[in-house]
Amino acid sequence: MKRYAIIGFGCAGFHAAKSIRQLDAEGRITVFNDTGQPPFNPMLSTYYASNKLELDGVFPFGTLEEIQEQWSLDIHNNVQVDWVDATSKAITLQDGSKHSFDSILIATGARAIVPPSFRKGGGDYFLMRTLADAQRLRTKVEEGGIKRATVVGGSMVGIKVAELLHENGIETTIVDAASYLFPLAAYESVAKVIQQRLEKQGIKFLFGAQVSTITKEGVVLGDGNLLESDIVCLCIGTSANVELVANTKVVEDSPVKVNRGIVVDMHMQTTCPGIYAAGDCCEGINLQTGKTQIIGLWANAAAQGSCAGRNMAGKTTVYYGNILHNITHFMGMDFIGLGDPTLPGERHTFKKEGLIIEAVLEGDRINSINIFGNYKISGILKNHLTKLLIGGERKLSIAQQGLLANQGLSWEFIKLIGGEI
Ligand SMILES: Cc1cc2nc3c(=O)[nH]c(=O)nc-3n(C[C@H](O)[C@H](O)[C@H](O)COP(=O)(O)OP(=O)(O)OC[C@H]3O[C@@H](n4cnc5c(N)ncnc54)[C@H](O)[C@@H]3O)c2cc1C
Repeated sequence: MKRYAIIGFGCAGFHAAKSIRQLDAEGRITVFNDTGQPPFNPMLSTYYASNKLELDGVFPFGTLEEIQEQWSLDIHNNVQVDWVDATSKAITLQDGSKHSFDSILIATGARAIVPPSFRKGGGDYFLMRTLADAQRLRTKVEEGGIKRATVVGGSMVGIKVAELLHENGIETTIVDAASYLFPLAAYESVAKVIQQRLEKQGIKFLFGAQVSTITKEGVVLGDGNLLESDIVCLCIGTSANVELVANTKVVEDSPVKVNRGIVVDMHMQTTCPGIYAAGDCCEGINLQTGKTQIIGLWANAAAQGSCAGRNMAGKTTVYYGNILHNITHFMGMDFIGLGDPTLPGERHTFKKEGLIIEAVLEGDRINSINIFGNYKISGILKNHLTKLLIGGERKLSIAQQGLLANQGLSWEFIKLIGGEI
């Protein structure tokens, strides 16, 4: 009987466990979960924090008991794995207990970034990554008495937190060192349109502003100015939980390579044979650049987890990689960014009745697309872009073209992005 160890029980850990069980009915799958909760969907945390979703809604795969029973898992809750020994194939928990394995997955996710200088001012701040973060913000907002809020980070998470605060009648300012919203996904032209619409609804922005620290009075900027705030929320990104790698005794000459995340190959195996990694803690292939990069997205964590699980169970499986993409709904708007917006090319724009599509093409190759005002076409375009990059069909199918036309795109624009009618 093969013994599998899965460290971390989020989206990636869950999908790995499920895939292993689907291939190996007998194996012992031990999950080390540092929370006492089932796998949690962080994407839904702002909906829970704003009281739009009940607690059980943030656990997409059911309760721990249901998961344990359905997939025959041995789940250890509220435990932290501190040490991995890939030579003797054993892990050590914080309480000193040891467990043996034949194959191991690191699926430890990521945590919200808090620069040390932000802490020096002694002010309180709120994060949005874990369920505890969402619960804390929900309680704070429910207590009332908040007039002014500052959200640091014009990110996808920042905008959702700003929406939540704004809906509760709180005057909200988003501060960012960048010069426009969503700089990792949006073109400046599209970001400015979004900003104008948000400003009309009452959100304020301060771009090009560095935060120096957080005090009890609010946010102190790099120029010394104070942005008075009753609450400060930090949404400036995440860093991968990779500490375990430093605490890993690896097989000789095969250290686990870590950049910003744990580097994996197309089988989700790290540079140390037998150790796999998946989800937000790891760097898989960015299909556009061919380089490894953390692509911190739910579906990516699910696909990587499944791929890792299958390989761990002995079924050789490849996950080619992914592209950067963001699909976000906020304050009555939809924004979708596909691909790397910094890649060069010629800009083409299509506008019609609230819909804006901008695409950057290099020759006939799409490098990136921004869509504002229609989430229904994002799946078609993302699949098209991904297929192009893994050498699949170069043209949109007739059905895809019909769906795009139904959503109001002109045939001229459809042809430009891969149609052929
Ligand atoms: C507010 C918010 C909004 C988001 N919106 C979107 C979106 O719109 N679309 C999208 O695709 N993605 C979105 N994401 C990202 C998406 O939720 C993540 O990419 C995905 O959940 C990552 O799953 P994971 O399993 O890799 O990591 P996690 O969910 O972080 O799970 C890792 C688990 O491992 C545990 N762990 C860590 N170290 C140890 C240890 N030593 N021992 C035991 N356990 C350990 C952690 O506590 C955690 O429970 C959003 C994220 C947030 C926070």
